[in-house]
Amino acid sequence: MPELTFKQTCEMRRNYVGRTCKLHFEASPLKIVRASRQYMYDDSGAEYLDCISIVSHVGHCHPHVVHAGQEQMARMTTSAGFLNDTMVDYAKRIVETLPDKLCVCFFVNSGSEANDLALRLARSYTKHDDVMVVEKSYHGNIASLLEISPKRWKQMGIEQKEWVHVVPCPDTYRGIYKEDSDNPGLLYANEVKKMIRKCKDKKRTISAFICEPLMTVCGVVVPPQNYLKYVYRYIREAGGVCIADEVQVALGRIGERFWSFQAHDVVPDIVTVGKPLGNGHPMAMLVTTKEIADTLREFSSTFGGNPVACAVGMAVLDVIRNEKLQASAKSVGKCLLDGFRAIQPKHPMMGDIRGMGMIIGVEIVVDKESRKPAKQAAEILSYKLKEGKILIANEGPDKNVMIISPPMCFTCDNAKQVVQAFDLALAAIEQGALEAGLASLPHEQRILNIPLDILSSNLDKGLDSDSDSESSSAKKARYEEMD
Ligand code: PMP
Repeated sequence: MPELTFKQTCEMRRNYVGRTCKLHFEASPLKIVRASRQYMYDDSGAEYLDCISIVSHVGHCHPHVVHAGQEQMARMTTSAGFLNDTMVDYAKRIVETLPDKLCVCFFVNSGSEANDLALRLARSYTKHDDVMVVEKSYHGNIASLLEISPKRWKQMGIEQKEWVHVVPCPDTYRGIYKEDSDNPGLLYANEVKKMIRKCKDKKRTISAFICEPLMTVCGVVVPPQNYLKYVYRYIREAGGVCIADEVQVALGRIGERFWSFQAHDVVPDIVTVGKPLGNGHPMAMLVTTKEIADTLREFSSTFGGNPVACAVGMAVLDVIRNEKLQASAKSVGKCLLDGFRAIQPKHPMMGDIRGMGMIIGVEIVVDKESRKPAKQAAEILSYKLKEGKILIANEGPDKNVMIISPPMCFTCDNAKQVVQAFDLALAAIEQGALEAGLASLPHEQRILNIPLDILSSNLDKGLDSDSDSESSSAKKARYEEMD
C-alpha cells in the first residue's frame, strides 16, 4: 500500500475515526512512521526523543522482542482452551517476581479488562459490593471502571454511584495535608478510616480499595510513607481486599523494586498490570492469591494469554534482566531528578518535582507560593519541547504536570538533553510572559492570559528548531487547512 500523505492521513482519520479518540499534540499531531529504542521518527524523517511511551518499556521495536513475537506467530498461535508451554512458563516467571501469596495468574488483553476482573474477584471473594477509590484516579475505559474513575466523571457526566466511595489523593503538594504535616501518610490513611466508618453507618460493605501504588494518573503522586500500610490494614479489617493497579508502572520502572507496591512494603491481594508487559503488544494480566482466584465461577478470554503474547512477554522479561534495565531506571532516574532539581531555583514556574526511577513528574505552576496549576504554560512547554524534538506530555488532573516516562533504555545523556531543553523552553515561557506586554498584571494573570500565538512567537527564540524538517507550526497550518 503506498504511504498516505500527512494530509490524507488527517483527512481519513477525521472521516473514519471517532473524534473523541485522543491524539497527542492535537494542534499539530505527529505521524510516526518508524521507531527504535527511545527514538521515534515522523513522516519527514525527523527524530524525536520519546519521553511519553511508557508502553514501549524496553525500547521501541526491541529486536529480541520482535523476533520472539515473529517466531511464535509463524509457529503457532491459538485462542484460549489448549494447553501451551509458553503460557505456563510465562505465568511461572511472573509469579517468581512476586511475593509468595500472589501465585495465580489470569491473562487478558488490556488494563481495563484486568481491573474489571479485579472488581469481580473482589466481590466474589468478599461477598461485599462497594469500592473505595482515590479522587482524580482512573482505572479503565469500560463501564464498570468509568464508574470508579472520578477523573472521568465530570467530563462524561457520570453520577457518582452509591457503592463508590472517594477518598482524598495523598498528594502532599496539592492535597489537604502538605509535606510539612506531621506524618502525612497516617493523616491521609485516617481519611480512609473515616470513610470506612461512614460506610458502616450506612450499612454498606467494602469489597475493595483500588489505587495505583505510584499514582501516575493523579500527576505522578508518590504516596507518603506508610500510607498504603495503614490503608491496606484498615481495608482488610473492614473485610475488603486491596487491589494494586500497576497497569502503568511495573516491571522495574521505579528502579528500586520490580513492582511499585514493593516500595511501600505492602502485599496487595490482587495486582493488575498492562502497558509494559508486551512492549506495545496488547496484553495484560492479573495476579492474585489462590483463595481469591478460587472464588471465581467462570472466566474465559479468547486472546488472553495467547502464545504470541506470552512469547513477547517472556522476551520483555529477558531484556529487562539481560540489559539490567531496572538498575538503569534507578541511575538514569536520579540523573533526571538531580537535573530538574538543579534548574528549579531559577524557574519561578517550576513547582514540585517528584517520582521514582523512570517516571518523573514536574509541576508547572503560576508561582511557587500559590502553587496554582499553570495548564496553558504546561501545554505550550510541551509544544515547544516538541519543536525541539523532545516528546513530553502535560498530564495530571490539571494538565500542568510534565510527565517523563520514557522507554527504559533512556540514558543519562538523554536525561541531560531533556533537562537542558526544558530549562531553555521554560525560561522562554517565563520570559515570554514578560515580553508580551502584560508585565503590569499580577504574575498569575500574566501567565494565564497570554494568547498562545504571542507566546509562541516569543518562544521561537528559546529553542532551535530543525531546519531540515517541517516546523510544527507549518504542520499545524496544514492540519487546520482541512477544517
Ligand atoms: N489503570 C490505569 C492506572 C491506567 O492508566 C490505564 C490506562 N491509561 C488503565 C488502567 C486502563 O488500561 P487500558 O487502556 O490498557 O485498558
